[in-house]
Amino acid sequence: MIQFQYERAATTKAAINGLANSTHAKFIAGGTNLVDLMKRNVMAPTKLVDINRVPLKDIQQLNGKISIGALALNSQVADHPLILEKHPLLSQALNAGASAQIRNMATVGGNMMQRTRCPYFYDTALPCNKREPGSGCGALEGVNRMHAIFGTSEQCIAVHPSDMCIALVALDASVIVAGPKGERRIPFEEFHRLPGNQPEKDNVLQNNEMIISVEIPDNELSKNAHYFKVRDRASYAFALVSVAAALTMDGKVIRDARLAMGGVAHKPWRLREAERSLAGKTVSEETFRQAAEIAMQGAKAFKYNAFKLKLGPNVIVEALKNAAGLV
Ligand code: SF4
Repeated sequence: MIQFQYERAATTKAAINGLANSTHAKFIAGGTNLVDLMKRNVMAPTKLVDINRVPLKDIQQLNGKISIGALALNSQVADHPLILEKHPLLSQALNAGASAQIRNMATVGGNMMQRTRCPYFYDTALPCNKREPGSGCGALEGVNRMHAIFGTSEQCIAVHPSDMCIALVALDASVIVAGPKGERRIPFEEFHRLPGNQPEKDNVLQNNEMIISVEIPDNELSKNAHYFKVRDRASYAFALVSVAAALTMDGKVIRDARLAMGGVAHKPWRLREAERSLAGKTVSEETFRQAAEIAMQGAKAFKYNAFKLKLGPNVIVEALKNAAGLV
């Protein structure tokens, strides 16, 4: 049994103060990932600051953007009329994640902070640089079927597990975080990081910072958008490969495109070159196939995940076809 302190915070300031002087303190809200990690001895925080009473649950329209509080539940966001009307892509992605029970507990901030599901990370008898820096990477020469094909390092080849975050990257969202010195804004695409030489760090949040909200700018990407996820079973499974696709169109001509992939990298993987290749083109399977080829440039497989090199482009094409109404 891990010993830890527990305290409740009712304001953002109290929550941030709760982390002061304790590098091993963590926030807890829904606890759908952290409690599992504590039970398995993968994470051992010395203090938990319960932030469920901090008023950060609002989902609202504010000056040309939608603001989603960090403590809004995944299910509340997925079913909210504003999200269904303006960003159905986000709703689709949320509903593709986890189970209904977990979506009813998990928060937006917690979804962003969840850890990889690499099995070596969860098994404390096996080496893992993310869990224990310097111990090695069991997946590199091990069972790496679920692992990354983009942005890997010799230290870690894990993938980011969230579906929600893939849609938020495609929608050009930003993250608002608060710390002792005030608030700062981070482009969602820059919030999560690649493993490099510090695979233990999943994101750029500082130890004393807290996620306050996510903002999505108003855009015209709602009508032609689709989240396509391929997984081992129909629900409650992480992505082998997923793609968030959104298009703005003039008739059959693509004016602008957004593409992001899940299940392929340590962070949501934005496909900017492929997006640029689609602008000005007429929608067709051939056009989408060419964009998918561009998107897959630089992909590198390991022993058991080479199937992702074929699956990836097919999922991109299917997501785009669905977004464009070709199926
Ligand atoms: Fe650990 Fe990353 Fe290697 Fe998995 S891929 S064993 S998380 S270092």
